[in-house]
This record gives sequence, C-alpha cells and structure tokens, in this order.
Amino acid sequence: MKKLYFITTTIATIFTAINTKAQPSSDSTKITQKKYQAKAPKTQSFGTEAFGKSKKTTLRWLGMAGFLINSRGTTIMVDPLLEGFDMPLLIDFPILVKNVPHLNAVFVTHADNDHFSVPTNVAMSKVVDVYHSTIYVDSLMKNLKLNSVGHDIGDIFKIKNISVKLTPADHAYQNAYPGMSTRWFKNEDACGFWFDTPDGSIWATGDSRLIPEHLTMKAPDAILFDFSDSEWHFTFEGAVKIANAYPDALLLLCHWGSVDSPEFSPFNGDPKKLSDVVINPQRIQVLAPGEPFVLKRIKTIW
Ligand SMILES: [Zn+2]
Repeated sequence: MKKLYFITTTIATIFTAINTKAQPSSDSTKITQKKYQAKAPKTQSFGTEAFGKSKKTTLRWLGMAGFLINSRGTTIMVDPLLEGFDMPLLIDFPILVKNVPHLNAVFVTHADNDHFSVPTNVAMSKVVDVYHSTIYVDSLMKNLKLNSVGHDIGDIFKIKNISVKLTPADHAYQNAYPGMSTRWFKNEDACGFWFDTPDGSIWATGDSRLIPEHLTMKAPDAILFDFSDSEWHFTFEGAVKIANAYPDALLLLCHWGSVDSPEFSPFNGDPKKLSDVVINPQRIQVLAPGEPFVLKRIKTIW
C-alpha cells in the first residue's frame, strides 16, 4: 500500500492548499498542526538469545507488519523489515539485520515494501534457510537469488515442528489505479499464513480486504492483527468483525504506530479505538517492538 501514500498525500496536499486559502489568518495554527498519530511503545531491543533453544513458543513484533516467532527453537520471521524503508519511522527496529544469527524460514505475505523488504531480505539471505511466499513474490525473490519457494493459496507444508498453510487475501489494489503498474495483479499474489505450532495456532492475515473466508476459519489462538482503517485493508469495522468472529483469539497488534504518516490510513491505526468494540478486550496485546510474548492455547487462558 506504499504507493497509495503518494496518491493520498498528493490529494491531501491539494486539499490543504484549498483549505489554506479558505482559512482566516488567525486560524493558521490549526492548518500547520500535525494530526495525532498513535505511536508504538518504546522498542525493547533483543539479540541472539531470542533465537536459542526454548520449551515455549515466543513471538516478538518487529514493528511494521513483521514478527519473529521462536517455536521451541524453530525460528521464523513473517514480513521482516529491519532496514532500508523509504518513509520516516516512529520506531527503532528491535534488532539489526547483522545480529540475526539464523532463521529456519522467512515468510512474506506480498510484494509491497512494507512487507517484502528487499534490503532486509537480501542482507539476511546468508542466515535464512528458505523463503516462502506466493508464486508471484517467489518470482521476485528468485530474481534476487534468494532461496525461495512459491505456493498457491491453500498449500500446506512444514518447517520442522510448525505446519504452515497459505490463507487467501484480496489486496490487488494496483489494478484500480491506472499507471501504477503495467502488471495486472491477482488476488493470489498476496496471502496470509496460518501457523500450527506445538503451543497453539497463529494467523498472520497479511494485508487484505475483508473476504468471507476470513470470518469462517477454524478459531486461531493468536492473530497478528492488522486493524488499519484502509479500504484496501480490512477497514477498521472489518478488522473488528474478524476480531469478534474469533472472540477468544489473542490479538497481537501490528501495522500501526511504526511509520510517521498521520494522514495515511494503512499506517495510523490507534489501539485505543479497539477496546470499546472488541469482544473480550483484555485479549488486545499492545506490544512494544521486540517485546517477548509467550503463546498459549485459548483453552488454557480463558
Ligand atoms: Zn502493509
């Protein structure tokens, strides 16, 4: 959704210019005031200890849409972005790429650079056993000489003790903006990932508009929860629908509080707005980047 930022900011600039002319001069402070944006809590840096042997499954939000999951010593990342982003940030990343010792796999949900970070993944390629994504993103990875595998939606495979399934997404926004891309994007170019670990299930939704399949899945123990109020994401109301379709699932918030872009809805979610509308709001997890979170099965918590 990054390219939409430019369209949105251009429209916002034009709108501001029109507004500026209409505003009396005494009101000019209102024009220059930056819109409020919720920020992630202060980063908790981590090092190689997060990648070691373990008897548990621990998740760490990396900021943006990224996560590190260490499931009893199997280490994977989802949509890692740890360097080289092209917009101003509100966070420090919790680990430098050069300090990542080893990953059994990296999973990428789609090609946008807030999810598929070329600088991050190329820099990590020597310590990553294998990359997994959709067929389209795999083709981009192969161009970069990454050791990658492309999958269809619904494919199931294993990474050691973790079973993985690709879940559907609807995020082909490029087609709606003539000139944005010469390529016609397909829904299956983007995906989510379902992980069955020995300590519970995790659903990384990826960026997507809400589709009926999202509301009729087996209940996950945890959702890597994107609550962006963007028409090309779930919308805020759609995200709440997902949360409430699985009223016991832990909600590990992501895609918020990381990029300095108060006018751009995909990045400016505010966790405070969730507590009044989500069933069982105590399950909302506002993690700091890098903060460890130990996964538990729903039935053992509630
Ligand atoms: Zn995104």
